[in-house]
Amino acid sequence: MPFSTTPLDSLHCGQWCKLITGASFQDLPQIHHLALAYSLAGVDCLDVAADPAVITAALEGVESALTHNPELIRPFLMVSLNAGEDPHFRKATFDPQACPSDCPRPCVSICPAAAISFDLAKYPELGVIRSRCYGCGRCLPVCPLGHILTDSQPADPSLIKPLIRAGQVQALELHTRPGETAAFLELWQQVKEFIPYLNVLAISCPDGEGLQEYLAWIFELISPLPCALIWQTDGRPMSGDIGDGATRACVKLSEKVLSQHLPGFVQVAGGTNDHTVAKLRASGLLRSPRPGNDPRSVAGIAYGSYARSLLAEFQKEGLAWSEAPDLLNAAVTVAQSLVHQIKSPPHHG
Ligand code: SF4
Ligand code: SF4
Repeated sequence: MPFSTTPLDSLHCGQWCKLITGASFQDLPQIHHLALAYSLAGVDCLDVAADPAVITAALEGVESALTHNPELIRPFLMVSLNAGEDPHFRKATFDPQACPSDCPRPCVSICPAAAISFDLAKYPELGVIRSRCYGCGRCLPVCPLGHILTDSQPADPSLIKPLIRAGQVQALELHTRPGETAAFLELWQQVKEFIPYLNVLAISCPDGEGLQEYLAWIFELISPLPCALIWQTDGRPMSGDIGDGATRACVKLSEKVLSQHLPGFVQVAGGTNDHTVAKLRASGLLRSPRPGNDPRSVAGIAYGSYARSLLAEFQKEGLAWSEAPDLLNAAVTVAQSLVHQIKSPPHHG
């Protein structure tokens, strides 16, 4: 049920849909499954960590999707990089030997990624399973001893250089926050040689004091661009799976950035979930289909933790979906229920 054709057409039509697997999420079997199911569901872009093993797992997922449906339009592969300290680029850490044996382990139950384990029968490591931790930080305040910390895991742009030159990575996302001019300049010096190879450059930024001046400064710095530019409004980072209320911040931030009339597309993230399309439509911010890029409307949505949580159930048994077609079909149906929301024209009552 294609509603648009290429990923760039989707941007122009206000139907762009991106899956974020996570800037520091490195569970390769899960990444393969997510790329497979969401490609088949019709996403325009997969946004992954700057780790060659993760990129390979995502590409294999896309190839597998193409063997299931040769008419599928290949989604862009986007890699996320950080300018300075950023919660998307960190991992939780603690010494499990220091945990009291009678602790009710609230850290385990609150973790949305099943990234903390004390069950050696299920996972051969105690404590944080680093590949699964994506830095959401929810475990930190629930530890009664306060002994969960984080360590940063900055992305290394040099690791992805050959993959960009080879055309395997077609998009980059630079994560920043208002006022981080020195860190952004440093990152820009490292990545500007990649720009001629890209189809899309995204700038991901949360709200903060001086946001509009900061985005205008970035625009001046990076212009002119030979590729599409996306402003990713990171409303409430890594929170889409928490519930309905999480989406308000990203809708509000998109209105703020749209009011600035910067050239480029505005795409929401951070708190996106099942309620986001309805809230954007109710706010008059999503009009699709429409010709051209209406600067008063958002061009698309990126789904992260919510999209991953939707498919968690199908990954519980640890079965490879290539061996379990029923499981894959069920996962794709669920993925489509999310992706098709932005790809379907609004209902007029
Ligand atoms: S709750 Fe978040 S930060 Fe803590 S281990 Fe799980 S994914 Fe990592
Ligand atoms: S909540 Fe703190 S003390 Fe309890 S198991 Fe988790 S990390 Fe250990």
